[in-house]
Amino acid sequence: MDAVVYKGPHEVAVEPVDEPEIEHPNDVLIDITTSCICGSDLHMYEGRTAAEPGIVFGHENVGVVTDVGEAVSSLEEGDRVVAPFNVACGFCENCENGKTGFCTNVNPGFAGGAYGYVAMGPYTGGQAEKLRIPYADFNALQLPKGDEHEDAFALLADVFPTGWHGIELANFEPGDSVAVYGAGPVGLMAAYSAKIRGAADIYVVDRVPSRLELAEEHCDATTINFEEGDPVEQIKAAHGGGVDCGVDAVGYQAVDTDKEGDGSAYDPARENPAVVINNLIRTVKPTGELGIPGLYVPEDPGAPDEMAAQGRIGIDFGLLFEKGQALGTGQCNVKEYNRQLRDLIVEGRADPSWLVSHRVDLDEAPEMYEAFDNREEGVTKVLLEP
Ligand code: NAD
Ligand code: ZN
Repeated sequence: MDAVVYKGPHEVAVEPVDEPEIEHPNDVLIDITTSCICGSDLHMYEGRTAAEPGIVFGHENVGVVTDVGEAVSSLEEGDRVVAPFNVACGFCENCENGKTGFCTNVNPGFAGGAYGYVAMGPYTGGQAEKLRIPYADFNALQLPKGDEHEDAFALLADVFPTGWHGIELANFEPGDSVAVYGAGPVGLMAAYSAKIRGAADIYVVDRVPSRLELAEEHCDATTINFEEGDPVEQIKAAHGGGVDCGVDAVGYQAVDTDKEGDGSAYDPARENPAVVINNLIRTVKPTGELGIPGLYVPEDPGAPDEMAAQGRIGIDFGLLFEKGQALGTGQCNVKEYNRQLRDLIVEGRADPSWLVSHRVDLDEAPEMYEAFDNREEGVTKVLLEP
C-alpha cells in the first residue's frame, strides 16, 4: 500500500510500505478515508526531533473497519470510526481516570502513545491506505455510517478536542475573556470552543492574515497581528487589566515577537521558545489561568546539541508567581471529549469543518506538507484522502 514516509528534514515521499496486519486479538484494521496533516507532524518534518527517516506519519485518522481481531466485541466490518491520536489501553490507572494521553501500558518508559510519531510507541501512522488500531474497543469511536460530516469528524482525532482541552486546561468558564496565541488549527479550535461555550471576549494572536480572518469570521474573535506590535500591549489596550484566561496554541517553534530587539517581548535573550508562555503570563490577569496545549519537548541528553536543551526554556516564573497564576499543560486526553464533540456535530450544534482548507489525494502530500509548513495564506488544515 502507499503511505507518507518521512525521508529527512523538509522531505516526505508517498511510497509503498508493508500493509498492517492484526497483531493482537484486540486490534482492528481500517481502510483510511481521511488522514489529516497536523502542526505536530511539522516538528518531525522540520527536523526538530530525533525522528528517523522511514516513519509513516499520520495520527488523525478516520476510516472503515475491514478486519476485526477475535477479542474485539463492539466493532464489526463496515463500521466507520475515528481514532484519537492517543493510543491508550483503557484500563491502566491513568486511562481509568480519563487521562488517556498518559496511558502507562502502551509505550513503557514514556508518557503516552500515538500513531506515526517519534518516541510515541510502535504504532505506524495513518497517512496511508490502511491502519491498525490497537485496543480497538477503547480507541475506535464509532461514527454514523456513510460520508456525512467526514471533514468535521476528522477533526475529532485531535485538533477539535485539543482546542477544547486548551481552554479546559485554562479553567475556562462561560462569561470569561480569553486570549489564544496561535491561529493554527489548534488555536482556532480553542477559540471556537470558547465561542460555543459562551466566552465574553476572545482575542486571537497570529500573523497569518487568512488564519486571523477565520478567527474573526467563525469564532467572533478580536484579532491581533503580532507583527504590528507587542501582542500583549495590543490586547491590554482593548482589555485593561488582563484577560481571565489564555491558551498557548503555538508551542516551542514560536516565532520571536521581538525581532527588532526593542524589548516588546518579555524575554531579554530573544532566542527563547518561551516567548508565547511569557506573553501569556503578561496577558492574563492576576490569578488567571494558562492552558498550554502547544508542544514542548523534554531535554534529551542523547540528542544532537541543538536539540538537547529544548526542554529548558526561560519561563518568567517570577512573574507567574507574582500574579498567582496557575497553568496546565500536556497531551490532550482525546477520549475525554470526542464522544460529546461527535454528538454536538451530529446534532448540528457544532460544525468545525470551516477549518478545513484542503482535501487532496494522498499523492499530493509532499506539496501540501511544504505549503502547510510555510503557513501559506489559505492553507489552514489539510486532509489527505488515499
Ligand atoms: P501550526 O503550526 O499550524 O500553528 C501554530 C500557529 O502559531 C501558526 O499559525 C503560527 O503563525 C503561530 N505563531 C508562531 N509564533 C507565534 C507567536 N510568537 N505568537 C502567536 N502566534 C504565533 O500548528 P497547530 O496544528 O495549530 O498546532 C499548534 C501546536 O499545538 C503545535 O505545537 C502542536 O504540536 C501542538 N499540538 C498539541 C497537541 C496536544 O495534545 N497538546 C495536539 C495537537 C497539536
Ligand atoms: Zn495532530
